[in-house]
Amino acid sequence: MKIKISALALSLSVTLFAQNIQNNPGSNHGNKFEQLGTILPTPNYYRAASGAPGQGYWQNQADYDISAYLDEENRNLRGSQTVTYTNNSPDNLDYIWLQLDENQQSTVKNANYQFSSTIPKTTTTEKLNVSNLPEKDNHYGVNLTKVTDAAGKNLNYVVNKTMMRIDLPKVLKKGEKFTFKIDWNYNIPNRIAMGGRGGYEFFPEDGNDLYTITQWFPRLCVYSDHQGWQNHQFTGRGEFALVFGNYKVNINVPADHIVGATGEGKSFDKVLTSTQYSRYQQAKTAKEPIEIVTLDEAKKAEKSKSKERKTWIFEAKDVRDFAWTSSRKFVWDGMNVNIPENNNNVMAMSLYGKEAYGLYRKYSTKAVAHTIKTYSEFTIPYPYPVAQSVEAANGMEYPMICFNYGRTEKDGTYSEATKNGMIGVIIHEVGHNFFPMIINSDERQWSWMDEGLNTFVQFLTESKWDNKFPSRRGPADKIVDYMKLPKDQLEPIMSNSENIAQFGPNAYAKPATGLNILRETIMGRDLFDQAFKTYAKRWAFRHPEPADFFRTMEDASGEDLDWFWRGWFFGTDPVDIALSKVTVAKPQLDAQPKSKEITYKIDPPAEDDFNDISKTRERDAKTKFAVDQDKDLQDFYYRYARGQEKLDQNKNYATNESDFEALSKEDKNRLKNLTAYQLDFENKGGLVMPIILEFTFEDGSKLTDNIPAQIWRHNEQKVSKTYYFDKVLKSVQLDPLKQTADIDTSNNFWSASGSSSNLDNKFEVFKQKQAAIRGASNGRLNPMQAAGKKN
Ligand SMILES: [Zn+2]
Repeated sequence: MKIKISALALSLSVTLFAQNIQNNPGSNHGNKFEQLGTILPTPNYYRAASGAPGQGYWQNQADYDISAYLDEENRNLRGSQTVTYTNNSPDNLDYIWLQLDENQQSTVKNANYQFSSTIPKTTTTEKLNVSNLPEKDNHYGVNLTKVTDAAGKNLNYVVNKTMMRIDLPKVLKKGEKFTFKIDWNYNIPNRIAMGGRGGYEFFPEDGNDLYTITQWFPRLCVYSDHQGWQNHQFTGRGEFALVFGNYKVNINVPADHIVGATGEGKSFDKVLTSTQYSRYQQAKTAKEPIEIVTLDEAKKAEKSKSKERKTWIFEAKDVRDFAWTSSRKFVWDGMNVNIPENNNNVMAMSLYGKEAYGLYRKYSTKAVAHTIKTYSEFTIPYPYPVAQSVEAANGMEYPMICFNYGRTEKDGTYSEATKNGMIGVIIHEVGHNFFPMIINSDERQWSWMDEGLNTFVQFLTESKWDNKFPSRRGPADKIVDYMKLPKDQLEPIMSNSENIAQFGPNAYAKPATGLNILRETIMGRDLFDQAFKTYAKRWAFRHPEPADFFRTMEDASGEDLDWFWRGWFFGTDPVDIALSKVTVAKPQLDAQPKSKEITYKIDPPAEDDFNDISKTRERDAKTKFAVDQDKDLQDFYYRYARGQEKLDQNKNYATNESDFEALSKEDKNRLKNLTAYQLDFENKGGLVMPIILEFTFEDGSKLTDNIPAQIWRHNEQKVSKTYYFDKVLKSVQLDPLKQTADIDTSNNFWSASGSSSNLDNKFEVFKQKQAAIRGASNGRLNPMQAAGKKN
């Protein structure tokens, strides 16, 4: 129950009361407001009930020293790596698991998760090659040539599809390190033809390749307090679960290639020309992007192929992965961006071919800078020394480097849609530095924990880039089409990555929208932002699980959000709240306004009653309604008086039933003339949400009320809310700003004249207006015409 003091202050003529009329509480009580309880894992020594890392929190570490050789002629990559694995867990380890993600590209080494299939109308020879049985070896995937300990002694290992177990020569105890070496190679796939995140793209026009080298070396799996060794195979869908570590990587490529990679370049003085190197030094402090490798240099490099080789050296600290790109096609630009929160001077950079020059030169590096700045405000300050965007006709993220799309037409022009798509993808992929590269969730299990959270901050970042940015995901009304789908096409957000049918809406848009609803509608920006930041801070450079997020958001805000997690993250119900009926009643004017004696009369009957013959027949029998409980009436007077008291502190207003007679004549009259409006709501969709109302009065003034979702706690299907106004109500709009993702807005509006919402289509409005005019000329009095005359 709430009194809108601000509205009272604005206009003395409006007094707003609200009152529950709740019959049979309990009969429709399901579990929508019950605590998640055992649905979440039990808090423990490692993960606290507050959602913070527990006292005994630990995580293991893997440090890599890798030398890679790009054989462009054979499109083959070979590597030699030394890995030092640190066991910080309290457990003794007999073996360790690594990921061989590149095996996903092999027809014989992949995880072989299959999709149901039917006979196609048409197909292509390429597709038949993939689906023909028996499967032929396409010769992709990792070839392991050596697996030894630090001293060069062979280690026993087993490859299980996209994973590899190395048996340790002796038990690895808490605090101990194990160093081992692996030599490997693989054929680099054609990323455009075969799909996937890494590979080469061939440009027939100039005969060059652009390599994006990702998930390219055997990487440690996560061993954790909550699942032991990560054991989900890589199928191409669920992304990565990785441990933090420090990297030193030597990348040997043709001498005319330009390389971008995770981490700081340590050999730029040797691999760049002296002019390029001085431009690089300049760019470090530049406020606008400076070309380190120019368009002319890139175009010139495209024309021949050097037989010489160069080694690019990169180092990265506290990263969970390492990716790189190499091509002679690259233009490379960079500028400085200062992160004020930690006074970190980051070098924002972009690499792109001439095909993207018209767009990337203008926007890419600036979008990188804007993204890390904005994410730093909403999460934690960006901690790394560089952040890079590479144009590679896709969208994929790695620490400090990501691959994006956005090419111009041949003549250098581009559409607004291409430009916005490019900026959106750059913000998104650069944003992944925070989720999951730093706030290191298990992507293989939970896609929403990185994609959903990232898409949410992406939406905020896009709005700060351009207040009118056409964001695809985030606003509530953009998720409506997905929420409308039949139940057999939906699964909860809390589903494993592999099992999600509608990946984009489920893992990106729905969680992002849910967080936006929490921020704008349920918690408010201040509470939400503080809690969201707390989550980021608690789990930066750690491995959070869903419960850690859910718990932290409640712990840091003082809001019990279990009902929201239960509905939005664990369920598939949509929001469809209907304003099913509005009943209008006036106090009987001849009644003496004493306590317990006001009678409200519904005159004429509510519009709905005309639709039902049995209701119409019973009409006379139920003209009295609502204020028939002594308690409610007392409450009513009390609140009325209290509401007035706020307006004039010198007046000694009545504050209880017996003081009613002490009210001024004016106030008594006002009380007599209040019209009661009972709004009946139905929860047709199933998902509980706040009820947001906008009242429009005949005098043109408006009033809004936001009823928290907890109104549904006694009855999850039907609730009513009664308001008393001393102005004539013209219409009520439910969810006027479309902020709850209500899938059916046609039942969100009531008007005294019977016209439909202006949120619905114009033709409907026109039709309804015409009908209302006809109705009036037929002499049928609508409820508000009757009530309105008396105010
Ligand atoms: Zn993403």
